[in-house]
Amino acid sequence: MGVSRRDFLKLSGTTVVLGSLGVNLDPAKAYAKGLRISGAKQTTTICPYCSVGCGIIVYTENGKIIRCEGDSDHPISEGTLCSKGSSIEQLVNNDVRLKKPMYREPGGTAWKEVEWDWAIDRIARLVKDSRDKSFKPTTKIKVKETQPDGTVVEVEKEVVLNQTQGIAHIGSAACDNEECYLTQKLVRSWGLVWVEHQARI
Ligand code: SF4
Repeated sequence: MGVSRRDFLKLSGTTVVLGSLGVNLDPAKAYAKGLRISGAKQTTTICPYCSVGCGIIVYTENGKIIRCEGDSDHPISEGTLCSKGSSIEQLVNNDVRLKKPMYREPGGTAWKEVEWDWAIDRIARLVKDSRDKSFKPTTKIKVKETQPDGTVVEVEKEVVLNQTQGIAHIGSAACDNEECYLTQKLVRSWGLVWVEHQARI
C-alpha cells in the first residue's frame, strides 16, 4: 500500500502510542528513511516577496534546492505560507521560467529571444519617446478667489503637474519588496500615475 507524506505525518503522530501497543512500525520507519529531504541540509530564511516576512525552511542537497516549506518555528507565520510563498522553490527550479527577454515585432505573430542590452535600449527609447509626447509639466485648474471687494470669483490658475498619462506600469507578483520599491520610485519620477500591480487586478 502506498503511503502519502500526509499519511506518514499523521502516522508519526501516533507512533509512540502504536509502538507501545506492540504494532509493527518497521514500514513507517522504512518510509521515513526514504523521504526526499532526509539528509538534506536545512537553512532558514525569510520569504522575500512581501512585508509579512514569513519564515521558510530551504532544503538543499549537493548545493541544489530540493524543497522549501513553511518554518513552524517562525514567530510570525508559524509554518504557514501563502500560495506565492509556497511556490518559491520555482524561482530557482523551473524549466519553463524565461531567462531571456522575448520580443514580438509590431504586427508579428512569433516571439523571438533577444539580448538584454537590445531589449533595455529599446524599452528606454520607447519610454522616452512616449513620455516626451505625453508629458504635461503644468495644468490649468479653476479655483475660488476672494476679491478686494469681498466677492468670491472663480479664476483659472496654472499649477505644476509633472505628469504623463501616455504610459502605464504593471508590476509583477514575482518582484520582491526592494524591486517593487525601486520600480515605484522610477516610474513616479517619470510622472506616471497609472501604476498597478498584478495582485490587485
Ligand atoms: S508572499 Fe506570502 S509567504 Fe511570502 S511573506 Fe508574503 S504572505 Fe508570506
